[in-house]
Amino acid sequence: MKGIGVSPGISIGKAFVIQKKEAALTGILLNDPAEIQAGIERFDMAISDAINEVEAIKNNASLSDDDIAILETQIELLGDPEIREGVVEKIETEYKNPNDAVLEVIAVFVQLFESMDDEYMRARAADVQDIGNRILKNLNGQTLGNNKFEPDTIIIAEDLSPSDTITMDVSRVIGFAMQMGSKTSHTAIIAKAKGIPAVVGCSVDLISVKNNDVIILDGLKGEVFINPNQEQLKEYTIKRDAFKQRANSLKALRDVPAITTDGVQVMLSANISGAEDFEGVFDNGGEGVGLLRTELLFMNRDAFPTEDEQFEFYKKAALRAKGKPVIVRTIDIGGDKYLPYFNLPTELNPFLGYRAIRICLDRKDLFITQLKAILRASVFGDLKIMFPMISNIQEIRSAKSILAEAKAELSQNNISFNAAIKTGIMIEVPSAAITADLLAKEVDFFSIGTNDLCQYTLAVDRMNEKISHLYDPFNPGVLRLISFVIEQGQKHNIHVGMCGEMASDPLATLLLLGMGLREFSMSAAAIPEIKSIIVNSSKLKAKQVYKNVIEMDSSEDILEYLKGIIQG
Ligand code: PEP
Ligand code: MG
Repeated sequence: MKGIGVSPGISIGKAFVIQKKEAALTGILLNDPAEIQAGIERFDMAISDAINEVEAIKNNASLSDDDIAILETQIELLGDPEIREGVVEKIETEYKNPNDAVLEVIAVFVQLFESMDDEYMRARAADVQDIGNRILKNLNGQTLGNNKFEPDTIIIAEDLSPSDTITMDVSRVIGFAMQMGSKTSHTAIIAKAKGIPAVVGCSVDLISVKNNDVIILDGLKGEVFINPNQEQLKEYTIKRDAFKQRANSLKALRDVPAITTDGVQVMLSANISGAEDFEGVFDNGGEGVGLLRTELLFMNRDAFPTEDEQFEFYKKAALRAKGKPVIVRTIDIGGDKYLPYFNLPTELNPFLGYRAIRICLDRKDLFITQLKAILRASVFGDLKIMFPMISNIQEIRSAKSILAEAKAELSQNNISFNAAIKTGIMIEVPSAAITADLLAKEVDFFSIGTNDLCQYTLAVDRMNEKISHLYDPFNPGVLRLISFVIEQGQKHNIHVGMCGEMASDPLATLLLLGMGLREFSMSAAAIPEIKSIIVNSSKLKAKQVYKNVIEMDSSEDILEYLKGIIQG
């Protein structure tokens, strides 16, 4: 079956199918008093597990008084006799199963709190939802993190959330095949960062595959074979070994600088999600970090990380970088990145909604905590700060003014930080790209985020596999925007990098080089391939490629031309 290859490599292994239990109404009714009794017991057990979990969080971390107050409220709500009575009544008199009873009772309580006049009480609706989710999680089984996989496992699922993939022990996982998702979905990005071959957006019913079925997965071509025949097994074993050999020979380039044959030095840096990714960065010859996504620090937990917890995370990254630059992007939640404990409103168009810098400017408390933590860590390495999703100049000015407040607070408390820390923005919204000349006056650097820039320019949801054929970074409109941003960066003497997935596409390398791009940031595993193109090319040739491409009116022509160039 065919999907979208998002992380290259060939794997041959055994299927492990993850059927995610979404907490949804099941409509299942209980049959007799024994089932009712068992249902109530399961519910009580889920409550006591939930209380223990919240107690553990409360006792473990270095929390602020406000955090402790929230957790205490949640413990109180978990023990609230009215909630328990409501659930037990539904089980006993309406024969509802515990999952449905909890969903219905929590919905009623959330509505009740939301309709209260008192602002403080209204805000407690979020806590009720939160404890509801926790009870349901305990009722319906544990998270993926608890799975222990056999060696050579290929994970098959509808889709995995970023927090699923970080809690999962992937040491024995050699492939991912997802029914949903697209090239730039975060599942794809994480698989790529970990160097695990992956195929997403498979059109057929993947999760009907059985556990232990033999699977061949080609993460480059986007092919998945279920229970292949001997001939296919033989063919792909040879292909797999050849791929490994090529990857090993590329690794020989690790310590070779990325300089074109006519002497242009290019910086190849990595996109990472935490300090533990540095091993892969240095292994692949990365020269720094062009994008440290901070969202994962906020995921897979039950409350916002404190300033100290964040400080430790950034400090670790700064130290592990050994003096190399690290661009820390401030939190980019919203869109497809969801935090269970931060009750973001359900939106019709989350990618056009309350996300990233918009949340940060609205929730200054969260933003300033993150900025102070990054600033404090800036004395341990070469950290830079980058704001995502900027769509106008006012957002930059507001973000910078909050950064100035964070600096002032630290100074007042005699806490040291790098006062000259460089500040930049992601260029990923078309309005920002088109006004790059104006925005360049406000910041030290740009980083072009082609994943979002492409979806917003073309009006193509990057997560929607049905329209993935329209998601096209080589569309002349997208290329003109990118070229304009690079040109304006040069004109105003600010650094321009690219941290979207296009930076790791070998077909785009010469074109971007010809546009004048001098920093390419990508998942570490992609660096050797891009380096091999750069060291074998000249600036002169790249300029010619750019000149030719910018004259073309369709991405079909552009791609055909670029494929011809790369094939020699
Ligand atoms: C981008 O949009 O290109 C980008 C790098 O950010 P993210 O993929 O995290 O949205
Ligand atoms: Mg983005």
